[in-house]
Amino acid sequence: MKAIQVLVCGAAGRMGREVVRAVAAQPDMKLVGAVDVTEGGRDIGELAGAGGGVKVRGDLANALDAAKPEVMVDFTLPGAVMGNLRTAIGRKVACVAGTTGFTQEDLDVVYGLCKAHQTPCLIAPNFAIGAVLMMQFAAEAARHFDAAEIIELHHDQKKDAPSGTSRRTAEMMRRAKDGRLDGLAKDEDSPSRGLGEGKIRIHAVRLPGLVAHQEVIFGGLGETLTIRHDSISRESFMPGVLLAIRKVRALSGLTVGLEKIL
Ligand code: NAP
Repeated sequence: MKAIQVLVCGAAGRMGREVVRAVAAQPDMKLVGAVDVTEGGRDIGELAGAGGGVKVRGDLANALDAAKPEVMVDFTLPGAVMGNLRTAIGRKVACVAGTTGFTQEDLDVVYGLCKAHQTPCLIAPNFAIGAVLMMQFAAEAARHFDAAEIIELHHDQKKDAPSGTSRRTAEMMRRAKDGRLDGLAKDEDSPSRGLGEGKIRIHAVRLPGLVAHQEVIFGGLGETLTIRHDSISRESFMPGVLLAIRKVRALSGLTVGLEKIL
């Protein structure tokens, strides 16, 4: 069986290095390219401790043309991922994106790109299986409660807030409830009340020592329900990323959420 040819974009970053290590350890995958705006020219093996023999390149278009991957995995920055997807999908390279910060308008653009180039793309705000279950359980609980708030907690280097996972959780809860969640208290204009995402307050905590964590708290008559997920290491995202790499080429168009392929 021919190994899936994979290029990692953002390969020198925290998630990118983890993906490089995970891909290099799979017998059915081959790392053929590593792209990052930093560390250009270095062997990715020196940076990630695996995948040796592949040099980090700064220009995605050239790297795609040279390596001819079947799948591009993107863990870069909210401001970079759209350009990267345009470049890869335009070349008919299937994409797996874990970068967060997509707006609905961005997703609409990616949807159009996938359609125009007949190329699949999977975007997942969270690749941890436990986090996907946490979102599904929160959507289920939302059907039975009238008020809920979300607290998301991440490491202090995270560039976007609130997290893509918290936004997606809020969206799934709203859908489950037909938009009828209250979740707003009287002091809704106070900054300490967090961001109101369609009636569900989201509070973002950024501290060293954290990786990625989220609590969804539901309030009812004389009771609360808390659903919590903790990623205590970036390895937690890798089974989901590897599954996406294996399945993305069989998808069509844009798919949002890991739960769609579980
Ligand atoms: P990071 O350590 O800052 O890594 C991002 C890397 O991408 C950096 O090396 C960055 O270089 C590089 N980069 C920036 N622009 C680029 C471009 N145009 N082309 C190629 N590389 C570029 O961040 P991280 O912690 O790995 O997180 C990356 C993204 O994944 C974030 O959006 C984060 O929220 C998301 N994330 C998602 C999941 C999930 O399960 N879906 C899990 C964890 C994290 P510079 O440092 O020079 O900017």
